[in-house]
Amino acid sequence: MKSIGNLIVISGPSGSGKGTVCHALTQENPSLVVSVSATTRKPRGAEKHGIDYFFLTREQFEEMIAGDRLLEWADVYGNYYGTPREPVEKNLSTGRDVILEIDVQGGLQVKNKFPQCVLIFLIPPSRDHLETRLKQRGTESAGDIERRLSWAERELKEVQKYDYLVINDRVEEAARKIGAIVTAERCRPALLDVESFLKTNWK
Ligand code: 5GP
Repeated sequence: MKSIGNLIVISGPSGSGKGTVCHALTQENPSLVVSVSATTRKPRGAEKHGIDYFFLTREQFEEMIAGDRLLEWADVYGNYYGTPREPVEKNLSTGRDVILEIDVQGGLQVKNKFPQCVLIFLIPPSRDHLETRLKQRGTESAGDIERRLSWAERELKEVQKYDYLVINDRVEEAARKIGAIVTAERCRPALLDVESFLKTNWK
């Protein structure tokens, strides 16, 4: 049956393992597209332009805002982050599901614009787990880690506005749960061309 794609937002504190879980999810479901965000933060470690993020200057980012070329954007820890609109809309119109790995401010903006989107909150099992993961990652200063932990506490207050909550205890298990959500959401009649299916197969 023909369908339009579904927009799936995965939010969760920095260090909650969104990237690792999304990687496992796309390995299992290769038709899923993960949107590449734009940001004004500097590349970290081996991150590459166009693959991990589009690394932009503040001027370039503000031009994208002015041109309405972002589906959503937010200021996170003093840097801009946003979702380029065009590739997302193109993939959805060809029936592919698109994953956005974005913060809670962005997730709630997307829900306002696309009420049919699916909001999934990925949470580490505890604050201690999150702190340990951020420290082990070794890419942030002690001050940045503190900022990210207190930002996480603020984000957690919005959990009830999300459609699903997944605890990231084990990566494979979290990816399996999100895969099950994606599969179930694809069965919603609102996304499917039910009329032409019935016309062709049930006349
Ligand atoms: P990081 O700097 O660790 O890659 O990301 C910091 C935070 O920004 C994470 O919570 C991440 O989900 C969020 N983020 C990444 N891309 C986007 C985006 O396009 N829009 C919004 N609103 N948040 C984003």
